[in-house]
Amino acid sequence: MKHYNIPIFIPQQACFHSCIYCNQHHISGQIAQPTSSEIISKIDSHLKTFKEPYNAEIAFFGGTFTAISQQKQEEYLKLVQPYINQNKISSIRISTRPDYITPEILEFLKKYNVKTIELGAQSLCEEVLQKSQRGHSVKDVKNASKLINEFGFDLGLQMMIGLPDDSLERSIETAKQIVNFGAKSTRIYPTLVIENTQLAKLYRCGEYLPLEMSEAINWTSKLYNIFQQNNIIILRVGLHPSEALISGEELIAGPFHVSFRELVLSNIWKEKFESISHKNANTITIYINPKFIGPAVGYKSQNKINLQKFYRNVIFIGDSNLKDFQYNYVIS
Ligand code: SF4
Repeated sequence: MKHYNIPIFIPQQACFHSCIYCNQHHISGQIAQPTSSEIISKIDSHLKTFKEPYNAEIAFFGGTFTAISQQKQEEYLKLVQPYINQNKISSIRISTRPDYITPEILEFLKKYNVKTIELGAQSLCEEVLQKSQRGHSVKDVKNASKLINEFGFDLGLQMMIGLPDDSLERSIETAKQIVNFGAKSTRIYPTLVIENTQLAKLYRCGEYLPLEMSEAINWTSKLYNIFQQNNIIILRVGLHPSEALISGEELIAGPFHVSFRELVLSNIWKEKFESISHKNANTITIYINPKFIGPAVGYKSQNKINLQKFYRNVIFIGDSNLKDFQYNYVIS
């Protein structure tokens, strides 16, 4: 059954924090909060495009959903209930901060068929959280995760890499903690320097340097492997490319690429192929799960080109019996 997501963006509504990297209005390219009629027409127009049989989820994301007044949350959630009752939508997903989760909030969300709660953990290193002015602690993430799991929601924990004071080791530790905290899904966002943020000021006076693209790819590949080995669904790698990011209008610096996930997957396969012990031969035939042939060949065929330094013929063959990142090869 095909899964569809209907994203409803709630920009920085009721957010009383100012994380140094964030300016939601600039990242989203959208300023006004959506009205009820806009939300309904968005849902209806998405539904028209879905092919049966399907499974659809509404995702309220972007802001701190559970920090909005309960009246407003109820207004948004009630809009979706008729679609759930008619089996047009199966569930709701929200995103929020770890310090806006209590048993009362979770009772309320349960009542309205919310299934998944994603928390912006960003880092599970206290120093990094403090430098980023997140306004919550690692303990807040741990406690919120525990409660969310106890109430039977699906937990998502998002992380960022390259925040001030972050390091590869700290990012790896964050990924391991995300696994330990019982997350079912994650998103990995490299930190970008966006116009009109505190990070932009730090960058301009030389007090912050973002990751280089190659570092971001390398770090993310390692995190990807940790999540993949622990069956955590990686919903997104890299920020959604809004027009303002693509044009560079609001992006000052940082590892942004429209095909960032592709670059990461390509790098993971490059590293796998580095363990092949090459023999003096003409042809290498690599067997791989069909859905990974693209990333295995590599971004702009780079992995294939690398292998062509050793073999005249480099052949990739799909084999559905192989698991996601498994491969076999024959040299002849
Ligand atoms: S990242 Fe989230 S919590 Fe932080 S300022 Fe932006 S909207 Fe608020």
